[in-house]
Amino acid sequence: MTGIPIPPTEVRRHPDRARYDRSAIDAVLDEAWICHLGFLDDGHPVVIPTIHVRVGDRLVFHGSPASRMMRWLRAGGPVSVAVTILDGLVLARAVFDHSMNYRSVVLFGKGEVIEDPAEKLEAMRVFTDKILPGRWDEARRPTDKEFRATTMVAVPIDAASAKIRTGPPMDAPEDTALPVWAGQIPLRLAAGEPIPADDLPDGVPLPDSVRRLLG
Ligand SMILES: Cc1cc2nc3c(=O)[nH]c(=O)nc-3n(C[C@H](O)[C@H](O)[C@H](O)COP(=O)(O)OP(=O)(O)OC[C@H]3O[C@@H](n4cnc5c(N)ncnc54)[C@H](O)[C@@H]3O)c2cc1C
Repeated sequence: MTGIPIPPTEVRRHPDRARYDRSAIDAVLDEAWICHLGFLDDGHPVVIPTIHVRVGDRLVFHGSPASRMMRWLRAGGPVSVAVTILDGLVLARAVFDHSMNYRSVVLFGKGEVIEDPAEKLEAMRVFTDKILPGRWDEARRPTDKEFRATTMVAVPIDAASAKIRTGPPMDAPEDTALPVWAGQIPLRLAAGEPIPADDLPDGVPLPDSVRRLLG
């Protein structure tokens, strides 16, 4: 498994949309809430949606030691990770030219288990604060049992590319006079009204982290 070569990261389809600099790659990794991680299970490709966080030069994943994804990563198996931020719909005159605006990253690599307790705790902090910045300081910290029940695995950000599409539809010149609306519909994720847990005791105030999120 360890001898499998890393595939080329050079973007061949629409190379004009490619970025290979770490600032562009990190910006997508940090802003995206989730990723999709591909691995092999009994020789069959499986792609699993999951949370990722970037800790320095590594992309970190967490989960139960029993999950297939974690077992594969722990064993140092090669993975492919796709991270996507959807920015908008691109509506062209011709159905053929419809598209989406996006920022995405594809990463190839192998997992390394984070064994060092301090490093693991720091990765847990980054995870929690990714879900909502400031949450680590508000919520109860992991017990020893919870700490042991969580596997954290890091994949180095060595073999990665970003691909970014922005801008209007690209209709053929002969289509631009057609009476069909064309343009972009920007999309974004937005937080809704908080829904307190059914068993929340009376008098527990909305935390600062949520207030900041709601602006
Ligand atoms: C929201 C969204 C919607 C898309 N919809 C479509 C669609 O409907 N049909 C379609 O064909 N394509 C779509 N794409 C583009 C798609 O991700 C691929 O880039 C494209 O299919 C070409 O794949 P390829 O492996 O043939 O490219 P190649 O250029 O041959 O890929 C070579 C290498 O480039 C890198 N790479 C390729 N794609 C990406 C990427 N998106 N981000 C970062 N690195 C990349 C990888 O390292 C890959 O191994 C979409 C992308 C996004 C993010």
